[in-house]
Amino acid sequence: MSCALCQSNSPLQKSHIIPEFFYVPLYDNIHRFNIVPLETSKSGRFKQKGLYEKLLCKACEKKFCVWETYIKNAFCEGVGIKINQSGDLLKLSNLDYDKFRLFLLSLLWRMGVSELDFFSLVSLGEKHEEILRLALLNADPLEPLQYPCLMSVVHNNDTVRLDQISQPTHMKTPDNIDCFCVMINGLLLRFYVTNQLLPSFYADACVSKKGEMCVLIDEVKSIPFLAEYFSEFGNAVRARSGGN
Ligand SMILES: [Zn+2]
Repeated sequence: MSCALCQSNSPLQKSHIIPEFFYVPLYDNIHRFNIVPLETSKSGRFKQKGLYEKLLCKACEKKFCVWETYIKNAFCEGVGIKINQSGDLLKLSNLDYDKFRLFLLSLLWRMGVSELDFFSLVSLGEKHEEILRLALLNADPLEPLQYPCLMSVVHNNDTVRLDQISQPTHMKTPDNIDCFCVMINGLLLRFYVTNQLLPSFYADACVSKKGEMCVLIDEVKSIPFLAEYFSEFGNAVRARSGGN
């Protein structure tokens, strides 16, 4: 097996598809704004610790690590990042466009190339996989509207759950664009994969070259697939607590 990124035959590392720091409560910096109260389940944290596979060589793993460290510092420690809230919109600024974008692209690509069942609904197609692979290999963050990622903080009955990662899903937008969604600790990431030119509102929401981006504060019930997911999750938790 060769490295999925550089295609060399160097020994492969156990790579996390979703970086490890996502498995601890994060976005304290965002939540410090007390948008909504936080909630963690008493029945123990819902972890997906097993979500790694032999994917990358050491050198490529190291490359990803640089971008991940930036995200961890910015979002978990609040280093450098500026956040202003106006109503149900968070305006983030002072972001490092290149590192932030490369991190997001690496997450999308990893979910796409992963052979784990958990990521089976993320299928980018050979063409997009290859564009992303080359971009990551050359540390090219691409243009803001190439594979943009829209982010929302999602709450359910006015609480944000910090203890779960949803299985990534696939949807089509009304204008038939492929959208891959994953919910990580109360943060919903929506990646758009298309050859089409995207409408300008995407540019207003996703990270710009000036290092600014908007994060929406959304309610679970306004996002149908999530509402479904949450009710299933709720049933599972209830069934489990009943059994104990
Ligand atoms: Zn490699």
